[in-house]
Amino acid sequence: LSNMATLNASKLTITKTTTPREKVPKEQLVFGKTFTDHILEVEWTAEKGWAAPTITPYHNLSFDPSTIVFHYGFEAFEGMKAYRDSKNQIRIFRPDRNMARMNTSAERIALPTFDSAEFIKLINEFVKLDESFVPEGEGYSLYLRPTIIGTSASLGVSTPDKALLYLIASPVGPYYSTGFKAVSLEATDYAVRAWPGGVGNKKLGANYAPCVKPQLEAAARGYQQNLWLFGEEGYITEVGTMNVFFVFKNADGKKELVTAPLDGTILEGVTRDSVLTLARDRLPADEWTVNERKFTVQEVKDRAAKGELVEAFGSGTAALVSPIKNIGWKGEDIAVPLAAGEAGELTVQMSEWIKKIQYGEEEYKGWSML
Ligand code: PMP
Repeated sequence: LSNMATLNASKLTITKTTTPREKVPKEQLVFGKTFTDHILEVEWTAEKGWAAPTITPYHNLSFDPSTIVFHYGFEAFEGMKAYRDSKNQIRIFRPDRNMARMNTSAERIALPTFDSAEFIKLINEFVKLDESFVPEGEGYSLYLRPTIIGTSASLGVSTPDKALLYLIASPVGPYYSTGFKAVSLEATDYAVRAWPGGVGNKKLGANYAPCVKPQLEAAARGYQQNLWLFGEEGYITEVGTMNVFFVFKNADGKKELVTAPLDGTILEGVTRDSVLTLARDRLPADEWTVNERKFTVQEVKDRAAKGELVEAFGSGTAALVSPIKNIGWKGEDIAVPLAAGEAGELTVQMSEWIKKIQYGEEEYKGWSML
């Protein structure tokens, strides 16, 4: 039907930098502040489809002030990581999941979709070229930021007829440089992050800017993160920019690992899926149940009072898992136990299981891609 080109990794051209950056010592890395030497770009037009991909020296982007991304939020992104294993090979954790999610995000805002496998080939070429920026050591990684923007120069609210898919990367250190540090949360009941029929399950830039102020307000009251609730019932959905898990002890002595279901209001976290998969695979079934179900902050409060709250943690690419020690809600604090010092036992176990896979110490379901 058309001569629209699909994304084709074999058309890649590479122009290497002639002015390599000086590396920041890995102990001084700050998340998302310094970048590698190059940028990967692929232009798309409604007329011709995907152009030949390029990797060129990292540079500013230049667009007409009317460009649609600046006005109406035509932007979707991803976050994933590359790790250096003990054999000095670089591995990327579950990029297929991130690329699938990115395509559903792009599609929702009328941006073009692309062949995930082809883009992963390009990401691999990029990472190979900037390989020296992947820091070595536990907790260290190269954070990859694939981004897609609408680039039509027009103030009309309409389908972009031009787009840019690009990738930049930032070397990062461990989220917890001196071991786990449990966080306190404030349950946000005056603002919602997402709603049924909305776009909370898409990784759109437009979802993030409105979440900063509630975060600041929680911080002003002495809490490190906010806990996103939904509805009159106070359903627990996510924490900050992480998915969230609770462990309860039931009357029969069995433990239950719970997280909110994927009902369209939750970002379908790759870490969330990894935690659920490992829990179902490895936790003894006679001692544990693993549930994706709705649960409320009232349930957490009641069960904490009865001694049935075991632990809670957030999950996401940045921190991997983040132990929770306290939840402020309606002027009271719900204390969350921390069996293993600054984290619960399952939090520590999950962190160890997933890190082993990420750093290639253990092969598991092909998650860690060379
Ligand atoms: N929820 C939100 C709102 C997020 O931004 C993220 C980070 N991408 C997550 C959850 C965790 O997702 P993932 O495990 O894929 O990083």
